[in-house]
Amino acid sequence: MERIRFIDLSAQYRTIQSEIDSAVQGVIDSTSFIGGQSFAGEFAAYCGVPYGVGASSGTTALHLAFAALGLGPGDEVITVPNTFIATVETILQTGARPVFVDVDPHTLNLDPGRLESAVTDRTRAIVPVHLYGQIADMDPILQIAEARNLLVIEDAAQAHGAEYRGKRAGQFGAAATFSFYPGKILGAYGDAGLVVTSDEDLARRMDMLANHGRTDKYTHEMAGYNYRMDGIQAAVLSVKLKHLEEWLERRRGIARLYDRLLAGSETQTPSELEGTRHVYTYYVIRSDRRADIQSALEEAQVDTVIHYPVPLHLQPACKDLGYTEGDFPVAEHEASRILSLPLYPELDEADVERIARCVSSA
Ligand SMILES: *Cc1c(COP(=O)(O)O)cnc(C)c1O
Repeated sequence: MERIRFIDLSAQYRTIQSEIDSAVQGVIDSTSFIGGQSFAGEFAAYCGVPYGVGASSGTTALHLAFAALGLGPGDEVITVPNTFIATVETILQTGARPVFVDVDPHTLNLDPGRLESAVTDRTRAIVPVHLYGQIADMDPILQIAEARNLLVIEDAAQAHGAEYRGKRAGQFGAAATFSFYPGKILGAYGDAGLVVTSDEDLARRMDMLANHGRTDKYTHEMAGYNYRMDGIQAAVLSVKLKHLEEWLERRRGIARLYDRLLAGSETQTPSELEGTRHVYTYYVIRSDRRADIQSALEEAQVDTVIHYPVPLHLQPACKDLGYTEGDFPVAEHEASRILSLPLYPELDEADVERIARCVSSA
């Protein structure tokens, strides 16, 4: 029996090999190794937002947005504990303090009902994370943000092309950041990231900050960073963006197949919020018998991953924030039950059936 990998990046490469090879060769021929401006514009247009600023990763994209929006010491920034460390690391890098809010037990996204009570006089921003490919419940979040005059920055690293009430990820806040880490829905052949915004002045500041605070080659208006996207990544992403919609539909099709095949099992399958387009960066099931399911799958040569096993408020890196076990019961409980199954556009239906059978019988 052949092993089913969690994601198979070479299967995707084989479907677009000649396009990728000639795009990469084009970068080498023109020696345009630095800069992803043209892709940044294409991706912003895909999101339905006027400006895009390329970055060297999803992490530097977050820090770029936070820095350009002026977050800093004394500020509190609200986010969720069940995200990748980058969301919180970059808040800490500005000197601001991350404040966690527990998540909705159905979607595992920020629970708007718990948001208001986390807002203080020091709160400057909210960073909803569109976890697993589903946009957080933005209407009530934006309502609170507006009433309390708070910035909203979407961490859309897992939500390329996801939609909420007819709008794509990227359209909801002052800025939204994306990751093109190879394993993400739209993956580069190395690290890359991007910020989109509708604010022209913010876009200009981010462009400048990402490129040493430059206004021209040797004029540095401010001390910035080297957070630029590289040319090969931009070329690869430009090719892949043309296929994104087809891949997202395929992901959704596989998710529906999993839903159907797992309907009779005791596992809880992802719940899709009414009026959203979930793009399934991860297909995450939940079960109190996760260990049994995971080892049965391992035995059947199926790779799985846990996103994420330890909520951030319990990570050593966050111990100075003073949180303890029991502070975010939903995030903590679900961290012990979640399991991400293989899902990528090239995955066969027969493989999905094999995985689902194994989950059901475990
Ligand atoms: C992947 C990810 C990031 C970081 O992106 P990189 O490109 O790996 O730096 C940030 N936030 C979330 C939610 C992610 O999944």
